[in-house]
Amino acid sequence: MIAIVGAGPAGSYLAYLLARQGKDVTILEEHDRIGSPVQCTGIVTHSIEKFFKLKNEVIAKRLDKVVVVGKSSKISVNVDEIVMWRDKFDMFVAEMAQDAGAKILLNHRFIGFDGKQSIKVKDRKNSKLKEIKADIIVGADGPYSAVANAAGMGSNSKNYIGMQAKIRLKMDTTAFETYFGIDFPNFFGWVVPESEDTVRLGIGCFENTKEYFYKFLKMRTGKKDILCWESGLIPLYNPKKTIQKGNVYLIGDAATHVKATTGGGIIPSLKAAHTLCDCIASNKNYNREFKRQSGKELLLHLRLRNILNKFSDNDYGKLLSLMSQEKVKKILKKYDRDTPIPLLANLLLKEPRFLLLPTTTILKNFCGWKGSRTTK
Ligand SMILES: Cc1cc2nc3c(=O)[nH]c(=O)nc-3n(C[C@H](O)[C@H](O)[C@H](O)COP(=O)(O)OP(=O)(O)OC[C@H]3O[C@@H](n4cnc5c(N)ncnc54)[C@H](O)[C@@H]3O)c2cc1C
Repeated sequence: MIAIVGAGPAGSYLAYLLARQGKDVTILEEHDRIGSPVQCTGIVTHSIEKFFKLKNEVIAKRLDKVVVVGKSSKISVNVDEIVMWRDKFDMFVAEMAQDAGAKILLNHRFIGFDGKQSIKVKDRKNSKLKEIKADIIVGADGPYSAVANAAGMGSNSKNYIGMQAKIRLKMDTTAFETYFGIDFPNFFGWVVPESEDTVRLGIGCFENTKEYFYKFLKMRTGKKDILCWESGLIPLYNPKKTIQKGNVYLIGDAATHVKATTGGGIIPSLKAAHTLCDCIASNKNYNREFKRQSGKELLLHLRLRNILNKFSDNDYGKLLSLMSQEKVKKILKKYDRDTPIPLLANLLLKEPRFLLLPTTTILKNFCGWKGSRTTK
């Protein structure tokens, strides 16, 4: 039996793929409801439809523009994005897994290992401890992963604090906004409409989150009223993290499978599920296969994030000005952030002046470029 801890998108989609191959799969979820509490903005590129067709009830909005805001300039770029109801999305993927034959045990919290092929689980309904036999154990249990800690794979990776709230606000409901390079260090912010009068407004940063959040809220809306909080940790991709040790595997946030530029982890976790399903079915080395299939993309996001965190206001101004050209906007519409390598390569072909931004290291590593030092 394969025990998957956590019924988020990573755990449920992996369960679906494995059950479809006839494997005996059980998901253990500590909550009494799948998808709750919500700690996510639920925005994804249309690349999600390469994995499955979303049911209409999962979709809150389809957006065709992103407004990128810097300190002294902003631009609008055409995109194709989906804002989901995250709880309904989690239920949708869990139902796919169940329909394919996976079992789901709600109210079951993973506590620890009991030998190599047995785990201890707490049934939260009657507070009883249970022992469950499993040949393979997968930690899909999010950023605080108890499985990773119990297996000695909980390395000291870094996390962004993602502070998000729902706010009453009327904005263009065909566009979302992202904020970079405004007064707070190592910061990115977003405002995403979910309906005609409600938005999901949030920030990601390493420290002083509460202070920055309220400053950002005031700057964008002039208000202080919060309808509800949906905050959580956003792991920063750690390329050195061990994600397989014997018969124990990690996936999704538990494995830091997140795009460091935006904090998006849903599509990377779906991609990782395909890799892990193949590794389990064919007994391949998942540490190696993941790096081969997704490692370069996530590393590129990480390097871009590190560079963006060091950008000056002037650098952001130049970046936005290059991005505002029609030829660049066309590339940004064609290749989304879930295909970052062709995106970057095509951007450089169409607009070599991106090379004048402080990007030397990324270009050397990913495009084989061997130029001299750039302007910064
Ligand atoms: C504020 C915020 C905004 C975000 N916005 C976006 C976005 O717009 N787009 C995007 O792509 N990503 C976004 N993310 C990231 C995204 O939410 C995660 O990357 C994604 O949820 C990872 O899925 P997962 O299945 O790995 O983990 P999770 O979704 O965290 O699921 C883990 C599951 O494991 C369960 N669990 C935990 N511990 C145990 C245990 N001991 N026993 C049993 N069950 C357990 C939990 O209850 C949960 O159901 C955001 C994150 C935050 C914090």
